[in-house]
Amino acid sequence: MTLAEFSHLTSTLPRTPRLPVIFIGHGSPLNALEENVWTRAWKTLGATLPRPSAILCISAHWFTEGTYIHTAPTPKTIHDFWGFPEALYAFEYPCPGAPYEAGELITSLTSFGAQSDTNWGLDHGSWVVLHHLFPAADIPVFQMSIDISKPPTYHYELGKKLGILRDQGILIMGSGNLVHNLGRIQSSPGAPAYDWATEFDTVARAHILAGDDRALIAYETMHPGALLCVPTPDHYIPFLYTLGARNTGDLPSFPTEGIAHASISMRAVRWD
Ligand code: ZN
Repeated sequence: MTLAEFSHLTSTLPRTPRLPVIFIGHGSPLNALEENVWTRAWKTLGATLPRPSAILCISAHWFTEGTYIHTAPTPKTIHDFWGFPEALYAFEYPCPGAPYEAGELITSLTSFGAQSDTNWGLDHGSWVVLHHLFPAADIPVFQMSIDISKPPTYHYELGKKLGILRDQGILIMGSGNLVHNLGRIQSSPGAPAYDWATEFDTVARAHILAGDDRALIAYETMHPGALLCVPTPDHYIPFLYTLGARNTGDLPSFPTEGIAHASISMRAVRWD
């Protein structure tokens, strides 16, 4: 077959649809077991997403020195929390891993020093949400860690490198919370939100709609209450990966909104 014939053949094959990129505010680990306004919305979201060939998760609960990509064929379910009911520790999300896709990604991220990991698996930032998005657990999933030593711009730029995966049928999911202050949390999920939490979340929403990535990267100066809303960057940084992976022409939508436990933003963002 000539190159011209091959090109014609490949151009007539059905194209893999470009996958949306999503950020999910995961909140309490108990959301794995509960049916509530958030988990119902996650189920609806999962049902409306094109079926991915694999899922790349960037979770608030995997921070490392350097960037690691999990390559195991069967990622274990990690129960990385304390003081919750036994049923949560018995919970398993038995999805396959994605060693091929993970290996390809490591190769493409050599300039970022990405390395293979076989010890991690899926932490609760991933499986609490995936269980509702894709309850059959039949889509391969792999996680990428967050380099604790890097500034926000680095994570955003690395997110940009990930964007091409969307054309390969891979769903990129960031899992954290735009506002996450456990020190000020109230026990009731429906406790009235602090003003600073609502305001920061609202400002972030406006910047997302306006496509003002620069303002969102500089989150520490985005609002006077930024230090209360993001006292540590762990739950905000996964959002920067998804922000980087969006395309200029993508439109944002918000599958979930609201503040839980007074100081946790449950906002989810979907870019198509
Ligand atoms: Zn968390």
